[in-house]
Amino acid sequence: MRSGITCTCVDCGHTFAPDDPQYLCPRCGDRAAPLRGLLYLNYPALAAGTTLDGLSCADWLPLLPLCSAGSLPPLRVGRTPLYQRTVDGREVWLKDDSQNPTWSYKDRASAVVSAYAHEHGLKTIVVASTGNAGSSLAGICAAQGQRAVVIVPAAAPEAKLMQALCYGATVVRVDGNYDDAFELSLRASEAYGWYNRNTAFNPLTIEGKKTAAFEIACQMGAPDRVFVPVGDGVIAAGVWKGFIELHKAGLIDKIPCMALVQATGSANLVRNLASQNGEFPPAHTLADSICVTVPRNLGMMRYLAARYPFETITVSDGAIMDAALHLAQTQGLFVEPAAGAAWAGWLAGGGSSSGRDVVLLTGSGLKDIAPLRRRMTMPAPIRPDLDALSCALGNPDGDI
Ligand SMILES: *Cc1c(COP(=O)(O)O)cnc(C)c1O
Ligand SMILES: [Zn+2]
Repeated sequence: MRSGITCTCVDCGHTFAPDDPQYLCPRCGDRAAPLRGLLYLNYPALAAGTTLDGLSCADWLPLLPLCSAGSLPPLRVGRTPLYQRTVDGREVWLKDDSQNPTWSYKDRASAVVSAYAHEHGLKTIVVASTGNAGSSLAGICAAQGQRAVVIVPAAAPEAKLMQALCYGATVVRVDGNYDDAFELSLRASEAYGWYNRNTAFNPLTIEGKKTAAFEIACQMGAPDRVFVPVGDGVIAAGVWKGFIELHKAGLIDKIPCMALVQATGSANLVRNLASQNGEFPPAHTLADSICVTVPRNLGMMRYLAARYPFETITVSDGAIMDAALHLAQTQGLFVEPAAGAAWAGWLAGGGSSSGRDVVLLTGSGLKDIAPLRRRMTMPAPIRPDLDALSCALGNPDGDI
């Protein structure tokens, strides 16, 4: 890794110069979920006179574990729009990360992991994924001339698998769940020397995911709250860390409150954030990208939650689907259910808004249309004439 960067174990505090590559803490790391020994990367202080615009022009390099921006993929990753809208009389900012190359937030992590692999001569990258991480790695590797191996549970949504296949990745479906895919990917890394992109396990996933915080700071300054849909908690930790780093460098005046949104049926991260009771009932939600039984990044989230402001919100699957449709119909933004959860969290948040809340829209609605089939009625085909049309419109008298 670039010289001057150190890492700190969030569990035992061990601070050291990381190896290439470095995954968990060498003293206390344990890859059984939730992972123990997750590493928090520390950067040397920024040069005097550094500005947000200057960082942006440098592709955030002083705060990334990379040697050259030239190793990033030749695609527009991040730099997504932030829309200011008024909804129900309240102002809110929508960060549309469905506009990434493979249509999800995961591209931010894949890009940094892939660039790092490029700089270290690592030719094959493997990932265990429930869908978006795999399709993202596949697309980014295709642009970089790298090989992606994507290990998924057999039940992963078809659109995401098809994406990974079309990008030319090696797709492995396992008879089992995400935990089985995760374990197999670690064994494959060891056996074949493949670089591992697993979320949280590879600390660079957090580094990539923090770049949205940098962009938001450029686009509007420090928000009051950021609404994040949470599964493993890597997007949340990444965005949090991004704001923390900017605040430490004196580039923003406060660290926003993280509003962590989970589905009611998949709320094991918020349930275990403060307590050590370690109860992980099996997760169920229609929002497959945030359906996580044992959140991999729990240790890092506990570390952050002990130090910085946050709130937690849980939303039902019904509220998630209502919110996703509301966003499509009132804002023209078609997002997948996981992103709908963040919007549902904001809508549920009621009156306390200052007009400086950001909602992260993490993935495109085209990624996962199965849950919508149950909500929308596909119109039956009609004869292509005006009588049939006026009938279909419910006006048999032709009165439109
Ligand atoms: C992965 C993902 C999330 C959740 O991110 P975590 O880091 O697992 O908390 C949310 N939305 C979408 C679209 C995702 O793909
Ligand atoms: Zn440790």
